[in-house]
Amino acid sequence: MNRGTAAQRGYGARWAAYSRQYRKENPLCVDCLARGVLTSVEHGGHVDHIQAVSGPSDPLFWEPANHQSLCHSCHSRKTAFEDGSFGNKKGKGKVRADCGIDGVPVDGGHHWRK
Ligand SMILES: [Zn+2]
Repeated sequence: MNRGTAAQRGYGARWAAYSRQYRKENPLCVDCLARGVLTSVEHGGHVDHIQAVSGPSDPLFWEPANHQSLCHSCHSRKTAFEDGSFGNKKGKGKVRADCGIDGVPVDGGHHWRK
């Protein structure tokens, strides 16, 4: 499924401004942080909706409790996971593409799961 760009999904300028401010106040990726990795989201990061929203008209869209900072790789992993297209491993650098949104390897054969 092609979700289009953020603007096409109706996120718009207001969200862009909010996102910048939020990331200034919450500069670390929460997903990386959970794994003990400090990743800045100030440049190239995202403000993620913890619970997926349909767009700005969704009451959860502007709900601060539903927001979290994610770096680009964690955000891509989460959205791929939610879109059901997970498994599209790109193998870029050291980015772990084989972990779920909770940071646990998706592969059931991984030693963490034994
Ligand atoms: Zn991250």
